[in-house]
Amino acid sequence: MLRAKTPGALLALAAALGVSPAAAARPLTPPIASYEISCRLDPEKKTVTGTELLTWTNTTPHAVAALRLHLYLNAFRNTRSTFWRERESRHGGRKLAESWGSIELTRLALSSDGTDLLPTLRYLSPDDDNPDDRTVAEVTLPRPVGPSQSIVLNVDFVSRLPRVSVRSGYKGDFFLVAQWFPKVGVLEESGWNCHQYHASSEFFADFGDYDVTIEAPGRYKGKIGATGARVSERETSDGRVFVRFRQESVHDFAWTADPDFRVLRDIFREPGIGDVEILLFIQPEHLSQAERHFKAVKAALSGYGRVLGPYPYPTLTVVDPPWGARGAGGMEYPTFITAGTSLVAPSPLQDPEGVTVHEFGHQYFYGLLASNEFEEPWLDEGFNTYMTDRVLKATYGDDRSYVSVFGIRFPLGIDVHLPLDDNRRYFAHATDDPLGIPSWKYREGETYGALVYDKTALALATIERLVGTPAMDKALRLYADRWRFRHPRTRDFIAALSEITGKDTQWLFDRTFFSSGVVDYAVIEATSVPSEPPRGFFEKDGRLTLGPPAALARPRGYDSRVTVVRQGDIALPVEILLRFEGGHNYRSSWDGEARWKRFRVERGPRLLDAVVDPDEKILLDADRTNNGRRPEGDPRAASRWTARAVFWLQNLFDFATVAW
Ligand SMILES: [Zn+2]
Repeated sequence: MLRAKTPGALLALAAALGVSPAAAARPLTPPIASYEISCRLDPEKKTVTGTELLTWTNTTPHAVAALRLHLYLNAFRNTRSTFWRERESRHGGRKLAESWGSIELTRLALSSDGTDLLPTLRYLSPDDDNPDDRTVAEVTLPRPVGPSQSIVLNVDFVSRLPRVSVRSGYKGDFFLVAQWFPKVGVLEESGWNCHQYHASSEFFADFGDYDVTIEAPGRYKGKIGATGARVSERETSDGRVFVRFRQESVHDFAWTADPDFRVLRDIFREPGIGDVEILLFIQPEHLSQAERHFKAVKAALSGYGRVLGPYPYPTLTVVDPPWGARGAGGMEYPTFITAGTSLVAPSPLQDPEGVTVHEFGHQYFYGLLASNEFEEPWLDEGFNTYMTDRVLKATYGDDRSYVSVFGIRFPLGIDVHLPLDDNRRYFAHATDDPLGIPSWKYREGETYGALVYDKTALALATIERLVGTPAMDKALRLYADRWRFRHPRTRDFIAALSEITGKDTQWLFDRTFFSSGVVDYAVIEATSVPSEPPRGFFEKDGRLTLGPPAALARPRGYDSRVTVVRQGDIALPVEILLRFEGGHNYRSSWDGEARWKRFRVERGPRLLDAVVDPDEKILLDADRTNNGRRPEGDPRAASRWTARAVFWLQNLFDFATVAW
C-alpha cells in the first residue's frame, strides 16, 4: 500500500516557495463544500498524492453524525467494482482495457482537535449492495454537526490513475485528472445523497470554493490546465513546478497536464453574457484546428448565454486529449471541458465543433444548474443535447453533418448525437425503458444514450414546437435564473414552463419523458375519385322520384377521403394538412386522443396529398415515413421515400401555438 508524504511537508514547501494565499474572490453562492488541496503528480508512478482541507457546512435542518465521501477512482480498483460489473454487463460485452486505478485515504482527521476518523470508515453500496464496491465511504463523527454548523477535515490521499479509458486517467505523459480527490456527498433533508460510481452516470455535488496547488516535474511548466484561474506558477531550483488554481462557486475540480500541449488564449466578450478568457490546451498536431475550437466555444458562450443567462466565471479551459486518449475527451467539469479532435477533421463533420459546443453547454446543464446526474441524468445530458442542436444550427446552419443522397439525408457519425435530425437511435430503444429512472437502471448502455440524450432532446424540441419557441425560451430562462447554483429537479422545469404558458404542462412530460410509449401518427388512407351522381330516390316537387335532381346529376369534382390513425400509445396534438388541386389547402387541428380521425370532401377539387404533422412539430414521431400519403391510383403515387423527401422539403418550422 502506498503511503502519502506527510501533508505538512507539502504545505511547508509551498509556503517556502512563496505561494501565498491569493485574495479570495467573492463567491457567487455561499459555499457548502470547499476544498484546499495540495497535491503532487508522479508521472512515472501515475499517482497523485494529496493533502486536502475539506470545509463542509450542514445546510439541512437536522444534525448529522456521519459523513459520506465519494472515492470515485475506486471504480477502477478491480473487476468487482460496480462500475466494472455494469460496464461489462450493459455495454454489449465491450471490454475495457484493463488498467487499474484507486484512491486510498491515509489520513482522515478532525481539523479542530485531530480526532482520527479513519478507524470508523466503512464502505457502503447504497445503490446495489455490492459488497466489493469501494466508491462510497462513511465515517462516524465524534459529535454531530448541527444545522448551519461547519466541520473541517484533514484528508490525505493517494490516487492511482488508470490508463485513460473512461473520463479520467493517463496516456504516457498526458494526464486528465478527474474524480480524483475524496469528495463529500450531498446532505439533503432526507439524508445523504451519495451514489456509487456507475458505468452510465455522472456526478452530483454541492457548490464550494476550490484552492488547489499542483506540483509536477519541471517539464510540465506552463502545461497544466485546470478548473478556475491560475493564480501562480513557480519553478523550484530542483526543477519542479508548482501551479495554483482557485475558483469560487463550483462543485468540482479537474485538471490536465501534458508536456506536449500547446496553450493558446483568446477572449470572449459580449455585454450581458460574459467576459471570459478562453484557454485551449491543444495537441501540436491539431494546431490547425485551434480556430475552430475558439469559434465553437464563442458561439456556445453566446448561444447558451442568450437563452440561459450570463456565464459567470472569468475563465474557460478547453482540453484536446492526445491520440489514444479519446476516453478523456467529451467531458465536462466546472470552467473546464475536454473536447478532442481527430487528425483529419473535415469541417462538414463538425468534429471538433459538435463536442466543443456540447461540453460547453454543460457549464449550464450540470455546472450552474447542478442537477443530480445519478438520479435525473436527462436534466444535464438531454437538456444539453437539445440546446447543443439549437446552437449548432444557429451557428453552422441546418444541414451540417449530413450527406444527402436522392433527398434522403444520412447522418455522418460524430461524437455528439444530433437526434433532432435523426431519431433512429431513439426509436431503436424507445420501449426499452421509460425516462425517469436512475442512470444505472437502464437496460443497456445504448438505452441510456438513446433515452437520456436523444429522447429528452426530441421531447423538448417537440414541446418547444407545441408551446412555441418564445414560450420555451422564457421557461428555460426562468428555470435557469431560479435554479442557478442550486439543485433543480425535473418538476422545477415543468413548473417554469407551466408558469410561462399559464397552463399545466405536467401531462406533456408524463407522456413524453416519463413513459416508454411511442408516438406514431400515420395517414393510412387517402382516396380521391371523380364524383359520381347519387343514385336512388330523391324528392322532386314534393314527390319521391328515381334519380337525382339535375343539379346533382352532372358529374362534378372529386370525392376524397383521408384517414389518420394514432398507431402509438402516446397522444399529442397534431395538425393535418390536405392539399388539393388549384392551391386549395385545408388544415385541421386534432387533439390526437382518439385512435383515428377521418376527413371526407365531396365534389371538391382533386386531393393531391394528405400529411399528418406537416410542420414536423412532433419530433418524437417514431416513423415519419407514414406521415403522408397520395391518393391511390394517382399516377404520381410516390414510394414512401419520395414521399419522405417531399416532407423534408416542407421542413418549415411553424411556431404557432396550438390549443390543448
Ligand atoms: Zn454531455
